[in-house]
Amino acid sequence: MSGAILVVEDEPAIQELIAVNLEHAGHHVLRAANVQQAEEHVRAALPDLVLLDWMLPGTSGVAYARQLRAAERTRDIPIIMLTARATEQEKILALESGADDYVTKPFSPRELIARIKAVMRRRAPQLTDDAVEIAGLRLDPTAHRITGNGKAVAAGPTEFRLLHWFITHPERVYSRAQLLDEVWGDHVFVEERTVDVHIRRLRQALEPTGHDRLLDTVRGTGYRFCRELP
Ligand code: CA
Repeated sequence: MSGAILVVEDEPAIQELIAVNLEHAGHHVLRAANVQQAEEHVRAALPDLVLLDWMLPGTSGVAYARQLRAAERTRDIPIIMLTARATEQEKILALESGADDYVTKPFSPRELIARIKAVMRRRAPQLTDDAVEIAGLRLDPTAHRITGNGKAVAAGPTEFRLLHWFITHPERVYSRAQLLDEVWGDHVFVEERTVDVHIRRLRQALEPTGHDRLLDTVRGTGYRFCRELP
């Protein structure tokens, strides 16, 4: 399992320990020592998960978690809070702020990575290696293979990522800007019509088995992947 993880931790030694272990586990790590630096990273590209220390200089981790949940663009980013606090009340506060989970310091790197895996499996299935199937269309990330009713489907790397996103998020409408954020990881440097180009290629790839009919254009809004063939 991989993915870009933003580590927001002001303690240099802890930040280093976390970063080294996450990189070792195959993640791309972005580092921030406070909320301001975290915001700069998030503005440039959405991370796949945020590890957020509770006690930060300036804006607290809890306040930043609320801020991420309140904004349309960032509301779905998985968040794990790191906390030295462990009273019942504070655990509840961490979860109420919108965090998906919390890890109490001191923690072992193995425990942290296991928690990240669990949250990603739940919140970001497109980052796991689990094979997914909808209406006879199957995508296997480990083998990097797509099949439609058992027949091989040839797709480029971007179309593969796009389909992986859609197949793990069916029945929801995504705008071009959202797809750029989620699939390209960057909404700033790629033009929105790029999305249309790759959608067209994906449809062409799925056409021989009729699975292109799973991908709807929602006029004026974006695209939706259906769970069942019409
Ligand atoms: Ca701290």
